[in-house]
Amino acid sequence: MTEHDCISVVEYTGGVLAVDSGFVREHMVACYLLEAETEVAIIEVGTNSSTPRLMKVLAARGWQPEDVRYVIVTHVHLDHAGGAGSLMQLLPNATFLVHPYGARHMVDPARLEASARAIYGDEVFEQIYGKLIPVEESRLRKMEDGDTVKLGSRQLFFMDTPGHARHHFCVHDNLTNGWFCGDTFGLSYREFDTRKGAFIFPTTTPIQFDPIAAKASILKLAATQPEHMYLTHYGRIDDIPGLAEHLLEGLDTLVGFAEQHLHEADRAQKIEKAIQEWLLSGLVKHGVKLSSEKCLELLHTDLVLNTQGIDFWLDHRDG
Ligand SMILES: [Zn+2]
Repeated sequence: MTEHDCISVVEYTGGVLAVDSGFVREHMVACYLLEAETEVAIIEVGTNSSTPRLMKVLAARGWQPEDVRYVIVTHVHLDHAGGAGSLMQLLPNATFLVHPYGARHMVDPARLEASARAIYGDEVFEQIYGKLIPVEESRLRKMEDGDTVKLGSRQLFFMDTPGHARHHFCVHDNLTNGWFCGDTFGLSYREFDTRKGAFIFPTTTPIQFDPIAAKASILKLAATQPEHMYLTHYGRIDDIPGLAEHLLEGLDTLVGFAEQHLHEADRAQKIEKAIQEWLLSGLVKHGVKLSSEKCLELLHTDLVLNTQGIDFWLDHRDG
């Protein structure tokens, strides 16, 4: 069996499918297919190595490359948008929808690439991301707060949601009353589901971390009374009011850690350790039976991926 024969695809109600991008580990980064009558959209594209997976799933669902009307990324971090250029090359009718602040990094990914290479080193960068391919400017549309597009009988509504990154929007699907929320509504891995439901925690981007904006964005999303959130990390979650409350509390906790260690020389390490301990005890309280080693293994990449470099740099470039 090849790697492509065992792509995890979860089909939700209302023509929404989560396709595992294959990035890092199973069920860490989801891409979504949003199916309408005669056309389809892809929301989040993963990395270059996700492109053949998405093409394979499209074909298996009976879609031609010409049927893809929109390719959308919630923000331009590479686990969400690294494969944009390679995917767009294969989808002749697709328009690429992106936040106004992220657009130029998709048209000219040289700076994104240089920044990521500086963080990961050339070897690791090439292994996990490959060569970043530009998206043609003529095929790209910047989506402002409040903009909408039609996808068959669906209406997609775009809302500016800074916090995790300033170039982040969320996309509402009217048919399922759900938000494709990127990293704005935190992280929630299915491995941590228990009888109590989903375990959720905020994304922790140490340098760009903007808790005030993040909270405002969570409140804005929750105020629309959605039935679902489609998280990039990972999958659909329901019971949104309860989870929103957890996220807001989580953000307060993170701010507390940051303030507590503000003036210490090794504050990054201290804060990271505090976050780890907090998450592990939260998982135990939630009834997760996995060992702490296994939990840390599942959480490890976030602590690495949500790391300073790209966020910091982008924030300053776009500010
Ligand atoms: Zn992410």
